[in-house]
Amino acid sequence: MRIVAVVLAGGSGQRFGADVPKQLLRLGGRTLIEHCVAAFDAAPGVDEILVVMPPGRTAEAEKLLGAADGADGPAYRKLAGVIEGGVTRPGSTRRAIAAVGAMLAADGAAADCGVLLHDAARPLVGQRIIADCVAALGDADAVGVAVPTSDTIVVASDGVMTTMPRRDSLFRCQTPQAFRLPVITRAHELARADPDFAPTDDCGVVLRYLPEVPIRLVPGSEHNIKITYPRDLAIAETLLGEHSGNKETGT
Ligand code: C5P
Repeated sequence: MRIVAVVLAGGSGQRFGADVPKQLLRLGGRTLIEHCVAAFDAAPGVDEILVVMPPGRTAEAEKLLGAADGADGPAYRKLAGVIEGGVTRPGSTRRAIAAVGAMLAADGAAADCGVLLHDAARPLVGQRIIADCVAALGDADAVGVAVPTSDTIVVASDGVMTTMPRRDSLFRCQTPQAFRLPVITRAHELARADPDFAPTDDCGVVLRYLPEVPIRLVPGSEHNIKITYPRDLAIAETLLGEHSGNKETGT
């Protein structure tokens, strides 16, 4: 099966509050996007990488990632392209899925293709997680990465608690999330027709619109932190320092 990794970097990073989108911020000397692209470039199971940027910023990413034709070729040999995303994350995912379909249709590989959808906001994704996702796609149509929650989680509405699911059944979702291309394409087609649905990840789209498709769970890692606020970047700097020796092989 051909595997394409998609790095979703099409957001504005409003919650972070910096002048540039957070995916262009530096962590240990490299931007968050470069960390993600480097991880997938180094992953033996990944064949190609597609990067999604906000409209008007693709040239910036191409320059950053060394995608422009140069004497030495691209800095990341698996980088297949940089495309513009949509207004929302699902919009960006849909554009990426369509681009992957178009990339592969030419050589008839679309039916046997897996996509790994990864948030650029998780720059410390490790090789173990990527390898587990690719391996799980061997006999699963959909794969999610998650860690058990140590906090008790409660559902609340208007400042009042409504339900408290059992903690031992609760997990925190991370990315990448991996899918057979026809499955995630179909799920997003169905979701698009529902204006009230605002998914925050792609497993949620499959769960809602293709409930008959089991989503295999792969263990995530506390190291695979999501950068949302400035303090997350400070934590990631510490993690990078602590784990730089095993980042490419473990967690
Ligand atoms: O907003 P949130 O933190 O959930 O975004 C998760 C990921 O989705 C980020 O890496 C962000 O850049 C990406 N995204 C996107 N296109 C959008 C919005 C978010 O690719 N329109």
